[in-house]
Amino acid sequence: MRAVKLLWVAPITLFGALLATMIRVSGGRFERQGTAWEASGGCARRVLWLINPWMQIEAITLGHVILARDATTASRMRSHEQVHVRQYERWGVLFPAAYLIASAAAALRGECPYRGNVFEREAFALDGRVNSGQNVRRD
Ligand SMILES: [Zn+2]
Repeated sequence: MRAVKLLWVAPITLFGALLATMIRVSGGRFERQGTAWEASGGCARRVLWLINPWMQIEAITLGHVILARDATTASRMRSHEQVHVRQYERWGVLFPAAYLIASAAAALRGECPYRGNVFEREAFALDGRVNSGQNVRRD
């Protein structure tokens, strides 16, 4: 079952690993955390900006790879991002599309596309920081 969870999301994990390698080569950190790999520091801020220049992303999960702007942020966001790792394992390569649809559905309900997204609600609820009021995006 573990192999299925890994393979089901492997294309996205490989993309995340490519970005994590760039972070590591630029002097950042790249280490295993639970069921995922975590990269931070180095050029991570620039990589996160390239992923979405319109939002200030602190951390993002890409399959079994978590990218965070720095080690402190990675540590603070770890439980939240680990929820997204489990969501990727459930949804596989369909997760990015499902995430976007969930954001669109939230917007159609008149809610914030980020805070109203069911995947983010689950992550905030399970990481113990339900709607903490921070206005930065944590994918
Ligand atoms: Zn999130």
